[in-house]
Amino acid sequence: MLPDVARAWEHLQRVAQELFTRYGYEPVYTPLFEHTEVFSRGIGEATDIVSKEMYTFEDKGGRSITLRPEGTASVVRSALEHNLTANGAQAKLYYAGPMFRYERPQKGRMRQFWQIGIEVLGAAEPTADAEVIAVLWGYFEALGLPRESMRLLLNSMGDDACRPAYRDGIAAFIRAHSADLCDECDRRAATNPLRAFDCKNPACREVMAGAPLLRDELCEACASHYAAVKTHLDALGIPYVEDSSLVRGLDYYTRTVFEIQVEAGLGSQNAIGGGGRYDRLMEAYGGPATPGLGFALGFERTLLALEAAGVGIPAPPRAEVYVARVDDTVTAEVFGLAQRLREAGIAAELDHQARSLKSQFKQADRLGARFVVIVGPDELAAGEVTLRDMGTKEETRVALGIAVDAVIAALG
Ligand code: AMP
Repeated sequence: MLPDVARAWEHLQRVAQELFTRYGYEPVYTPLFEHTEVFSRGIGEATDIVSKEMYTFEDKGGRSITLRPEGTASVVRSALEHNLTANGAQAKLYYAGPMFRYERPQKGRMRQFWQIGIEVLGAAEPTADAEVIAVLWGYFEALGLPRESMRLLLNSMGDDACRPAYRDGIAAFIRAHSADLCDECDRRAATNPLRAFDCKNPACREVMAGAPLLRDELCEACASHYAAVKTHLDALGIPYVEDSSLVRGLDYYTRTVFEIQVEAGLGSQNAIGGGGRYDRLMEAYGGPATPGLGFALGFERTLLALEAAGVGIPAPPRAEVYVARVDDTVTAEVFGLAQRLREAGIAAELDHQARSLKSQFKQADRLGARFVVIVGPDELAAGEVTLRDMGTKEETRVALGIAVDAVIAALG
């Protein structure tokens, strides 16, 4: 990532830090690789991620190691390891960093990509679901993505009380329609039947459109949780579309799942962020029952979506002021003045390549400097320097001793 892209990256991270902090989330950093088991146990053996997409290798000690394909498993693993949710405590965490999946690369789909995400551990209330969704929605809005370009999909995946029977029902449905489904979906009947809803094959989509909906078969507790999440979203004025085919790729989800898609710029990889509730995940690691939920969003896709919506990334000037030297007899004063400006909090630049005065001006322009301080032997003899406004081309003489204050005043 060269500076233009890296700058956008940092902007995305800054906006996230500011927003997430306002909602009470704290940063967490997890390792880029973990024991393979952390992912296979948490995400689920039958998922696409674990069965086909992980970068897994053996280290010199004979351990099976995997480059992290997502953030949630590691965050929950570390929360358990360090007792963050002991005695009913709640933890609200956010992370950002590269993830690795061996997928077929295409626009918006890379094998190393960046995610930023949040997790709430220890919170079962539907307000937590609505908060997490509000943070995701609010993040894209804070970046400047217009509301109309986003679509928030919402679904409930039920829990252990209602999903198993539904799962079996879908498996039976798949077997009954196997002649019209692709081989992969046919295979899913045995491994992960709900994933058949996610198949991109048009024939499969048509068949699955006729399948029973989990939304209609939720147990009472899940139905009322789901209803409350919708009520809270309505109260926040966040528009959503209920989509019962939204099942998401990971085994650990229970109840609320959601995804934000964009209309333009991404083709088939149009999901910019998503997440859900995973009330059984901590138990999968041998911990106590601890409700949890979160989201992850992709940096690359977010940037593509912003680009498609015509939203720019603010690019601060690389220098506000350029300190130019007329000849090399004043080098020490130029270097000293640039340093004092920087210490005063001003982005200042100077020439390190023995350029002519003319090419120093050009350089100042390229860097976006609003002012150039010209230091020459004659002015210096009088204890002064020249302050040139690059916009108006106006020049004023100021005493060297107050040059820093003069620049601050000129910059406003
Ligand atoms: P997931 O962890 O699969 O729910 O993905 C969450 C978000 O991460 C997606 O909405 C995408 O924005 C992003 N993402 C997932 N996989 C990739 C990938 N291979 N390349 C780029 N972005 C991805």
